[in-house]
Amino acid sequence: MLDTLRSIIQEVNGAKDLNASLDIITRRVQRALQTKVCSVYLLDKNLDRYVLMASIGLDQAAVGKVSLGAEEGLVGLVARRAEPVNLDNASIHPNYVYLPETREEQFESFLGVPVIHHQQVLGVLVVQQVEKRIFDSEEEAFMITLSAQLAGLIANAEARGAITGFSPSGIKTSDVSFDGLAGAPGVAIAEAVAVFPPADLSAIPKRECKDIKAEIRFFKDCLDQVRIDISELKMKIKGQLRPEERELFDAYLHMLSDQALGNEVVARIQEGNWAQGALASVAMSHVNNLEMIDDDYLRERATDIKDLCGRVLFYLQDKQQKERVFPERCILVCEELSAAMLAEVPKENLAGIVSAKGSGHSHVAILARGMGIPAVMGAIDIPFSEFDGKELIIDGYNGIVYSNPSDELRNRFQEIVNEQVQLSEELETIKDLPAETIDKRRIHLWVNTGLITDAATANQRGAEGIGLFRTEVPFLLREHFPTEREQTDIYRPQLEALHPKPVTMRTLDIGGDKALPYFTIKEENPFMGWRGIRVSMDHPELFISQVRAMMKASQGLDNLHIMLPMVSNMRQVDYALHLIDRGYAELLEEGLNISKPDVGVMVEVPAITYQIEALASRINFISVGTNDLIQYLLAVDRNNPRVANLFSTYHPPVLQVLNDIAERAEKVNLRYSVCGEMAGDPGAAILLMAMGYRVLSMNINALGRVKAVIRNVSFEQSKILLAKALLAEDSEAVKSMIDLELYNAGVERLLRTARG
Ligand code: PEP
Ligand code: MG
Repeated sequence: MLDTLRSIIQEVNGAKDLNASLDIITRRVQRALQTKVCSVYLLDKNLDRYVLMASIGLDQAAVGKVSLGAEEGLVGLVARRAEPVNLDNASIHPNYVYLPETREEQFESFLGVPVIHHQQVLGVLVVQQVEKRIFDSEEEAFMITLSAQLAGLIANAEARGAITGFSPSGIKTSDVSFDGLAGAPGVAIAEAVAVFPPADLSAIPKRECKDIKAEIRFFKDCLDQVRIDISELKMKIKGQLRPEERELFDAYLHMLSDQALGNEVVARIQEGNWAQGALASVAMSHVNNLEMIDDDYLRERATDIKDLCGRVLFYLQDKQQKERVFPERCILVCEELSAAMLAEVPKENLAGIVSAKGSGHSHVAILARGMGIPAVMGAIDIPFSEFDGKELIIDGYNGIVYSNPSDELRNRFQEIVNEQVQLSEELETIKDLPAETIDKRRIHLWVNTGLITDAATANQRGAEGIGLFRTEVPFLLREHFPTEREQTDIYRPQLEALHPKPVTMRTLDIGGDKALPYFTIKEENPFMGWRGIRVSMDHPELFISQVRAMMKASQGLDNLHIMLPMVSNMRQVDYALHLIDRGYAELLEEGLNISKPDVGVMVEVPAITYQIEALASRINFISVGTNDLIQYLLAVDRNNPRVANLFSTYHPPVLQVLNDIAERAEKVNLRYSVCGEMAGDPGAAILLMAMGYRVLSMNINALGRVKAVIRNVSFEQSKILLAKALLAEDSEAVKSMIDLELYNAGVERLLRTARG
């Protein structure tokens, strides 16, 4: 059973569109279970009915025509209950509806299973037999397992159809929406550009080519190049090859010839596809077919094709990637966004971001917020490669992507864009005023940075310091570890730009969802693994060169603070302090005149909240990293969109812990602040202020809103709000309290969230 299931899934995986997928499903299931009928009904949301989309055994004239409402027939019953229905005598069931178009009167046994994706019934998979009999457990289990595995593929195929402007049953649609997660606030309306990792045949998007002749010429040149490479390789190792291995090389060369793969690719380019897309579709269809065959020799040939086509792809990408021109305003869409991909697009062209993976707490989403680029993350079902070149609207407040927008929808969102611009202009007017409540409680608003250009913006927006410079960002954008001198050159402008205001530089925090391209860390459970200070302690040479570079860069400025990420015990602190002392002594010996920087620790691992007294005897300050602290407190992977709704800033136990940290730090006279994203949420900022936090460090684009809110509330009132929030049972209750507070303070407009 497992083999059959696997091979059906694989075949469906390679189908070119929804109809092809459904045809494969009905044909293969009918054959596997030896039934008379196998049909698929899919929900067409435009009709709110389950449409017969494919069938083996029912009259073909009914396909695409016949449909049932959720209250109608046995199909409706399966959909409504979202459970299998297995009957030996269907025609006497009270829900049975006879559909004359299908000519199904002769079938008595009926087994229908729902196709469920993300808790929603997409459709119903049905098998029927003539004789009266219950389908046995094995058959039922087969259908349930298959349907669970097919759900994602069907959803994906439906989504691909929706982008072309059609519902599953072919009705013309517009304003098709895809749900994701709020990544970075804002709305963008622009052309989508699919970005994809290099050298991955399965990730190439569909794209049209403008000059077919030139594209064919280019493809043939690349093909020739690979042929030359292989011939040269064959010559080089000729003496070491056995005759059958030599034959393999000849077979490769043949595959690349004009009569074989090359020819097929050229035919696809002639249909208007770009060379990379044409190559990928030819390669993947051969690979899928070969992998399905029950023969080891042929399955190995699939690997050969992947390898050969990968070589051709290398040459195609080498040239096409370098010549890439981005539209004036574009929305990047991709499977998994990386800092390097973000950096590929000139900032002025980048209007928005859509990523199928990740959540609003992923590091790239934080980077997007810092850049002020609206982002939708975790849009699991978006067929991102099909978006390429299409107009999209993205709502980064709610995490929704719209394709095929109507004029009406576009106008509505354009109004929101205009409002955003107006609000930013209004916030600009308070940039030089202090963040002070109406009863004169002064709060200091600092910013988090990572990109070199951030420091200048921080100043323009009225930041009072940098509470977190994520030093890993420049590391992520390179192809090797930067040297001590290179690092000094990166850090110095940050310290200079803010001088005399403080700049807190965090030592390298890699691991988790921050992978350096040149220092691979592959782990089962990366957020629990080798990250932050744990990597630094195992590589003291990296750590010491980094802190030396930071201290060197601060010469004559003396506004550097060093901060350690992911600390979970005092041994790490002691070792880091020892290395910092050593670096400092070395620099003095080398004749530099530098003051010793303050050193702090990030409170991100819950255990460390119980060691604040021990920290106070060693370091100068702590800063709470709420992104990680909440992830570990609630056991929610911050990068996993499936559990993103459980990551809750307002969850009362989270507030309790933050309150405890403030109390403990206060008791031992240790400076304390927050530098996680929570500090940039206006509602949460009020609660943090009420707990006693006086320094809040946030992404640059949150600064204006947080300041505006603080200037409109009273400290005394916010303490009353906090007392109530700490006693609440859930985050929804806390959110309502905050909303009411901000409404009463007349600043609810600052919480404005788009939704067309
Ligand atoms: C945090 O964890 O809150 C934090 C600020 O660090 P990062 O988001 O870079 O992990
Ligand atoms: Mg962190």
